[in-house]
Amino acid sequence: FDHGAQYFTIRDGRFRAALETAQADRVIEPWTGALATLPDGNLAALSGGDTTRYVGSPSMNALAKAMAAGLDIQTDAPVEAISGTAGKWFLKIGDRREGPFDWLVLAAPAPQSALLLPDEFTHHGALAKTRMNACFTLMIRQTEDAKLPFAAARVDDPVIGWISRNNSKPERPDEPCLVVNATAKWSDDHLEEPLEDVRRTMLEALQRYIPISPSEAEAATIHRWRYANVDRPAGQAFLLDDVSQLAACGDWCIAGRVEAAFLSAAALGDALKQIVKVAP
Ligand SMILES: Cc1cc2nc3c(=O)[nH]c(=O)nc-3n(C[C@H](O)[C@H](O)[C@H](O)COP(=O)(O)OP(=O)(O)OC[C@H]3O[C@@H](n4cnc5c(N)ncnc54)[C@H](O)[C@@H]3O)c2cc1C
Repeated sequence: FDHGAQYFTIRDGRFRAALETAQADRVIEPWTGALATLPDGNLAALSGGDTTRYVGSPSMNALAKAMAAGLDIQTDAPVEAISGTAGKWFLKIGDRREGPFDWLVLAAPAPQSALLLPDEFTHHGALAKTRMNACFTLMIRQTEDAKLPFAAARVDDPVIGWISRNNSKPERPDEPCLVVNATAKWSDDHLEEPLEDVRRTMLEALQRYIPISPSEAEAATIHRWRYANVDRPAGQAFLLDDVSQLAACGDWCIAGRVEAAFLSAAALGDALKQIVKVAP
């Protein structure tokens, strides 16, 4: 299941250039098929004209994995706290303390970066004014292909806003499966509700459009994203404080899109190259 970003588009020349190798290596591929609007059932092409919708292949994280190749990256290492002073920062990760680091760059969602960044970071105001929306994602394995006429659908419904047939994406297993996203408003309004209640309400909403058997409903799983969409971006491509030697970037600086996350990080990288001396 691709339970996070569903696809991405390329509008910026820098993003396009950065993806040339990934495209040639088929790490990303266009997602083709029909895009429906429900409940009216109108159909349009998912990709074509100015809008090609790309997906990672064979899964959405393929692109990030390709970009990370050869880099020293630790995963499953949540940073719990930052301590130290400018030029000598330490990270608390479980019972480990890592550092000292000259600079720290945080790329977590704005509310999580705000909690971690020390008080001396001068851009706490910009972090605080950023607003992100939640999103609930429902994942369903279908025992039989419902032979839907679309690969994905935008839904005009108070509860759910998006349905995609994940197996319609390139290089995915053939077994039919659906990914359903709740709307940003409904997700925010029900953020702290028990997940079982959320799951049941989303299944009821889905059945207004697609028949789901009791066994499919029983096995459906739910994921809560606390920070999924960007409601109000920071309005600056990145936040950099060269006195404390702390910086932050992410999609929330610009817009809630994969391309925006790339552009924020790329712009911050350019700025850091001007001020940080990297040992030869
Ligand atoms: C359900 C859903 C559907 C979406 N659909 C689309 C779409 O169709 N098209 C599109 O363009 N975009 C879509 N998006 C948005 C897209 O996923 C984001 O724009 C993109 O992932 C943002 O990238 P990022 O690197 O800024 O942040 P993220 O992808 O959020 O990455 C932040 C990382 O920081 C890590 N982190 C957080 N706190 C800590 C900590 N304390 N220590 C260590 N690590 C930490 C997190 O684990 C995470 O890996 C969707 C998002 C969601 C949730």
